[in-house]
Amino acid sequence: MSDVVVVGGGMGGLAAAARLAAGGHTVTVLERASRCGGKLGTFSRDGFTFDTGPSLLTLPGVYRELFAATGADLDEVVDIVPVDPACRYRFADGTELAMPHDRADVPGALDDALGPGAGTEWTRLMGEAEHLWELVGEQVLRRPLHGTRDLLRHATGVRDLLAIAPWRTLRALGRRRLRDPRARMLLDRYATYTGSDPRRLPAVMAVVPYVEQEFGCWHVRGGLRALGDALVDRLVELGVEIRTGAEVTAIETGPEGVCGVRLADGERLMAGTVVCNADATHLYGDLLDDPRARSPRRALRRVQPSLAGFVLLLALRGTTSSPGHHRVLFPADYDAEFDALFGKNPRPVPDPTVYICAPDDPGLCPPDGESWFVLVNAPRHDPESGVDWTTPGLAEDYADRVIDVLAERGLDVRDRLLWREVRTPASLEDEVGAPGGSIYGSSSNGARAALLRPANLSPIPGLYLAGGSAHPGGGLPLVAMSAAIVADLIGPAIREGARHGDRQVGQADD
Ligand SMILES: Cc1cc2nc3c(=O)[nH]c(=O)nc-3n(C[C@H](O)[C@H](O)[C@H](O)COP(=O)(O)OP(=O)(O)OC[C@H]3O[C@@H](n4cnc5c(N)ncnc54)[C@H](O)[C@@H]3O)c2cc1C
Repeated sequence: MSDVVVVGGGMGGLAAAARLAAGGHTVTVLERASRCGGKLGTFSRDGFTFDTGPSLLTLPGVYRELFAATGADLDEVVDIVPVDPACRYRFADGTELAMPHDRADVPGALDDALGPGAGTEWTRLMGEAEHLWELVGEQVLRRPLHGTRDLLRHATGVRDLLAIAPWRTLRALGRRRLRDPRARMLLDRYATYTGSDPRRLPAVMAVVPYVEQEFGCWHVRGGLRALGDALVDRLVELGVEIRTGAEVTAIETGPEGVCGVRLADGERLMAGTVVCNADATHLYGDLLDDPRARSPRRALRRVQPSLAGFVLLLALRGTTSSPGHHRVLFPADYDAEFDALFGKNPRPVPDPTVYICAPDDPGLCPPDGESWFVLVNAPRHDPESGVDWTTPGLAEDYADRVIDVLAERGLDVRDRLLWREVRTPASLEDEVGAPGGSIYGSSSNGARAALLRPANLSPIPGLYLAGGSAHPGGGLPLVAMSAAIVADLIGPAIREGARHGDRQVGQADD
């Protein structure tokens, strides 16, 4: 019998399993898909390989810490390389900005692209963001959050709260600090890193560009998927049992708390501790039949889900003369995009921002070809009151539109296209159980969003949440932080015969 069952083998679930196994627990991971990794997916055909989920690694130190905490060295098993320039942006007026990897070079690049003064304004803003990071980086992201009281306890005073100013939006901050509309657009884009709308996202999220600049943009050789594979290997070394094709249909509870899980084939696994890595909406909506789930279920109804993504995997003949690992092609009207995504009548964005990841990595494409991952923000799959991404023709027509947009913005690949693979929000929902295909669980829209996001500790004793739909949110580093919080809450295994409260690290409960 396992003392811990982890439901879902996404990165948050795997990271929690690794920490718990290193802490002496007997851990089983149950993953409904045929392989672990969740949204950190991969796709290969004819010598072209693509990351189908994350393509940018920030804060790699979080994964180094994770491996170190389990007695291993991440850099011995994966090759994490800097991406420079971090990203090439193209604005609607044709302006090109190559954002350097090195923070020191950023002001000069902004001045060159946007005009004198742009660099100074941005640097000043990043200075503010650095202060915000000092306030929230460790205090909020790395600790459990159970509501306003916790938030107030973590803040050291009124001045901190005024600096965080949860009622101020990222858009308002950009308007105040940046004169150039292109610089404002650049700042707005970071809202989409949390699947949110800059007009409703709290300004504290200015920490996102700060983190990207301060700690860099990274690629993992062989594709980001290699990070997931390395983590799975580590779990095997730690003795974790990983069962794929194992769908959990219920988490069983009693008056004392969680008792175990039931699988789709009827099998039951008893466990006193369950860590749920599946989406919180699925957990509280489908897996639990327990009155204690009512309150988080209600809270979830009050948060706006994160936006979804429409993905094209393009196998291209030949190579690009001025390649860029990450590229962003902005539209003329950014607000029209957020209206289409978050407005009353969600619809595919007619003139979307297009993000392209064309990794400079020979392991991912043939010598005379390129593997392009193209992502545009998309409304969720919502057949009842929004967009039904399974409508015949919709996905293929929209794929044509995105390829036309690429051409309109200077990247015409129509003659080079060998084949394309289209993935919609409905595909993501289907593959990894992300409700509506939301990329990041809930959005951070609104001043209270962080407080409404499900806590890592559920109201049911023994049941924990680790993953992008729980605190502190989505994205590779954050889900690993979520796992660390959960592992801390559970604590190391207590050895048989040890006195109550004596926890001993690294000793199994056998
Ligand atoms: C297109 C796209 C682009 C992205 N780009 C980036 C990026 O560049 N950088 C970045 O940091 N992040 C990015 N992200 C976000 C990042 O991928 C996620 O935040 C992170 O991988 C989510 O990890 P998770 O632990 O929440 O688990 P998930 O990946 O959500 O996995 C959950 C797992 O639970 C399993 N599961 C669900 N229900 C059950 C059940 N009942 N029984 C058993 N198993 C179940 C699922 O099959 C899945 O494997 C991107 C995501 C997408 C989709």
